[in-house]
Amino acid sequence: MTKQRLSRVIYPGTFDPLTNGHLDIISRAATMFDEVIIAVAASPSKNTMFTLEERVKFARDVTRHLDNVSAKGFSGLMVEFAKTEKANVLIRGLRTTTDFEYEFGLTNMYRRLMPDLESVFLTPAEEYAFLSSTIVREVAIHGGDVEQFVPPIVAKALKLKKNV
Ligand code: ADP
Repeated sequence: MTKQRLSRVIYPGTFDPLTNGHLDIISRAATMFDEVIIAVAASPSKNTMFTLEERVKFARDVTRHLDNVSAKGFSGLMVEFAKTEKANVLIRGLRTTTDFEYEFGLTNMYRRLMPDLESVFLTPAEEYAFLSSTIVREVAIHGGDVEQFVPPIVAKALKLKKNV
């Protein structure tokens, strides 16, 4: 009998902050693969609203109920982190055709850099198709209600951030 290879998947992103759309993708991946690592990018050039530690904590807190999901921060090249973690699948979320064009370009680059890493694209439930961290940050900055878009601990953190 051939030995079945375990699927160890990496889901990279900036997660500034993590939204219900990200959580939808993570939950789907957790049912499909053996192990899911949420790889939170330091992204220093993005001037993030939340620190890397805060973003990793959001990811850990909201996935506590999923026993095959973990979250880690990384800096530098995503493929290098994927190699270190011995990941064999890369997950990306696809919302629109714009995401597709962008992701398609990235996938070809990743394949050259790490041929063993297979990219898998997942689509979220339709209510999350237009949700992005950028929109959430904008709504929060202008005092709008973000509770329907993000997990409760993220909504609380956004409220605190706004009042700083
Ligand atoms: P990045 O800095 O890589 O764009 P993001 O945190 O914005 O990081 O997104 C990480 C991944 O999650 C990307 O694959 C992105 O397309 C996907 N994603 C973001 N928001 C959603 C959503 N609402 N539904 C599905 N996928 C999403």
